[in-house]
Amino acid sequence: MAPHIEIYDTTLRDGTQGEGVTFSVTDKLRVAEKLDVFGVHFIEGGWPGSNPRDIEFFEQAKSRTFRNARLAAFGSTRRKDTAVGADDQVRLLLDAETPVVTIFGKTWMLHVLEVLQTTPDENLAMIADTVRHLKAHGKYVVYDAEHAFDGFKDDPEYALATWKAAEAAGADCITLCDTNGGNLPATIAEIVRTARTNLTAQIGIHTHDDIGLGVANALAGIEAGATHVQGTVNGYGERTGNCNITSVMPILQFKLALPSVPAASFPQLKELSQFLDETANIRPNPRLPWVGSGAFSHKGGAHVNAVQKVIRSYEHIDPALIGNTRHVLVSDLAGRSNIVMKARELGFDITNSTPQLREMLTRIKDLEHQGYEFESADGSLALVIRKSLAEGEPPFVVDAYNVSVRRDGNRSACEAVVKVRIGQESEHRVAEGDGPVNALDAALRSALVRYYPQLAGVKLTDYKVRIIDSRSGTAARTRVIIQSGDGTTEWGTVGVDDNIVEASLHALVDSLEFALVRPGVLASVS
Ligand SMILES: [Zn+2]
Repeated sequence: MAPHIEIYDTTLRDGTQGEGVTFSVTDKLRVAEKLDVFGVHFIEGGWPGSNPRDIEFFEQAKSRTFRNARLAAFGSTRRKDTAVGADDQVRLLLDAETPVVTIFGKTWMLHVLEVLQTTPDENLAMIADTVRHLKAHGKYVVYDAEHAFDGFKDDPEYALATWKAAEAAGADCITLCDTNGGNLPATIAEIVRTARTNLTAQIGIHTHDDIGLGVANALAGIEAGATHVQGTVNGYGERTGNCNITSVMPILQFKLALPSVPAASFPQLKELSQFLDETANIRPNPRLPWVGSGAFSHKGGAHVNAVQKVIRSYEHIDPALIGNTRHVLVSDLAGRSNIVMKARELGFDITNSTPQLREMLTRIKDLEHQGYEFESADGSLALVIRKSLAEGEPPFVVDAYNVSVRRDGNRSACEAVVKVRIGQESEHRVAEGDGPVNALDAALRSALVRYYPQLAGVKLTDYKVRIIDSRSGTAARTRVIIQSGDGTTEWGTVGVDDNIVEASLHALVDSLEFALVRPGVLASVS
């Protein structure tokens, strides 16, 4: 039977050592809850000896019940030349009242002599005393062998002696750490294998991604006999990050047939990843394997054509298995198939033989040549398709506008005047705003809302401006992308022009027009 691999999550400890990752106590509790529901086996909550926030986290976690995971407090071996019972940092580990305590200790002679500045024997005593003390208090003890691989390469005999000291004192799991993240899979496998033949305790693996091998090294360790893997969601962590368990877990499940977390959790994998990004306030990485928004995107025309025929042809796995979705990107690489698939995704009923397809394709390529980009502007794309299919007149037309900026004392204000045609009617409105787009938006809405009251619920949520080099060699142009939403759906629209105000107006008009004409099935435009 395949061995069961334990997932030990250290997002809340090692993960928070990454740049830009900070969690409040409340955040940490929410993340722990989420990880527990997902089904990881261990949640390392923090290092009570390093900061008061982590002490507070463990204090509050005492009243929580975890269904799947066991909570671990992290710390180090006792200080040199100090009795373990008199070491405050060790006492704080017990005060955390977690079922699991993980301590790290030194494997590498270089660290023993030059960083700790102690003797090899005292280091062994520090490891043994601390593990024994924690075991005597009923803890499940994970011993993290810091710099296990670098230390072993330097002095294999001493490295092994440190691990044996932990084992003899009762450690339940001995985790070999590639702390500096610079080793290769073959080295990892060889040393894990040696540890396995010389120890009887369970072996764990903890890797970092410094040379892009965090996940590969963890897998090398598992294939060599480790049955406990440490890592973080989305690979958060110091420097380039830790081993990414958001990749390790599906690889174990779908590529190696090794059981770890419950099979039923995998359709929530992408959601787990997004939840962490949202909580940490980090912009999601579209290139993240498995769960990134681009992980199942198809752009090249030949790929899309093939995917349309046989989905398996350009996808290593069905994205739904891990809660991700397939996207077709429309770009100037696009062929017919992209447009057809995208249009269908947007809710239009078209096929490869729809007569207007050629005109649609020409129109899109022409707009892209002018600097339009539809990858985050589904709303504008839907309007182009709609127009090619000649599905009705636009709900309104802007006949004229004027925007002026003036400074009044130390306050600057914008005023927009618009003349809008709605069927036979014409409206003329003036509005102020704190910028030209804001003023135009206010004037347009005030003209339209009487005819289309549903626009009152539409809000602009984001506005991005990019200066683009014209591909035709003329002057630089401006591309404006606006994100809008009505509380339930979101859509993006784009405008391009030499003039930023004109570009903004195009994107703005598309945003409001899309809100009025979108096909009913466009429930999940994003
Ligand atoms: Zn680490």
